[in-house]
Amino acid sequence: MKAMVYYGNQDIRFENIPEPKLKQSELKIQVDYCGICATDIEEYIYGPNFISHQEPNKLTGQKIPLVTGHEITGTIVETFNNQNPEMIGQKVVLFGTITCEQCSYCKSGMTNQCPDMATVGFCKNGGFAEYLSWPIKNTVTIPKNLNSKIAAFSEPTSVAHHAVMKSNPKPDDIVSVIGAGTIGIIIIQILKSMNIKVISIDKDKNKLNLAKKMGADWILGSDEEISNKIDKITNYKGCDIAIDCAGGSNTPKLCVETVKTSGKVILVAIYGAKLGFDFNSIVSREIKIVGSLGYNKIDVESAIELLASKSVKVEEMISDIIQLEQMIDVGFKRMMKDEKDIYRILVSP
Ligand SMILES: [Zn+2]
Ligand SMILES: [Zn+2]
Repeated sequence: MKAMVYYGNQDIRFENIPEPKLKQSELKIQVDYCGICATDIEEYIYGPNFISHQEPNKLTGQKIPLVTGHEITGTIVETFNNQNPEMIGQKVVLFGTITCEQCSYCKSGMTNQCPDMATVGFCKNGGFAEYLSWPIKNTVTIPKNLNSKIAAFSEPTSVAHHAVMKSNPKPDDIVSVIGAGTIGIIIIQILKSMNIKVISIDKDKNKLNLAKKMGADWILGSDEEISNKIDKITNYKGCDIAIDCAGGSNTPKLCVETVKTSGKVILVAIYGAKLGFDFNSIVSREIKIVGSLGYNKIDVESAIELLASKSVKVEEMISDIIQLEQMIDVGFKRMMKDEKDIYRILVSP
């Protein structure tokens, strides 16, 4: 089968590799679409970081070279020993991690903290290929009214849902969302579906326009006097919650500055730089800082509901659909442009 195989830093090769052989309780899934995520680009330019590269992952036994791609929708084409034949033809998305199910985190439902966690496309062959194999119990069926292109956003929607649940907003809260990329736009929509007031902040005017269209109550360009404007919007109280989806060098500071005393800051970005920080600004106003990593299975199920009910709309974030062989030259190239004019490019292997 055709696959894009990650060998190392700036070394991804278009290859013909054997189709996956199924193990007990696994499915063979034909990939319908796999989204290109900023993480894929980071692994290409700066990696390997999160891709299993020194020791093989304990649960999958895999390390590079491996097939990347983690925002996957597909169709079940084979089951182990032809068990559960009724599953053939079902459209699915992945709950994209395999975990040990033994450790204290797994047992308490925090599977995203399992020390042996294997994420698809990082520790096991992923979606930039014609097929992949994946455990039955870690797949979620897509309802008939949800098409595969839209369902390809279930992974970022799960990440966004996990972050919103961490923020735990109350009905009259005002939440500022820093960054109006894919995760930011989805977070805005989830908050609006809960009737929360949202301020969207981004340096890109086009992204702010989409944020507005998707329900943001206020939009602020990052060149503006953000603190003053937020003071006016919140009647000098500050936001109840600030969510950083941008991962910029100054965005955590912006969150702390614009959140109210005893407010909450959620960090749902991966930071390129190690930031110096005035921790007294957190101590003195008793601000809570909470990290949000990935998602659990309940987030994937909620994501599918949010997408199927159109509480989260993603059509306008499908910037292009390309062939597998165009992934680097067309897809990655557009994602790496300084003035990135896109949200998601879907690869259709
Ligand atoms: Zn992603
Ligand atoms: Zn575990």
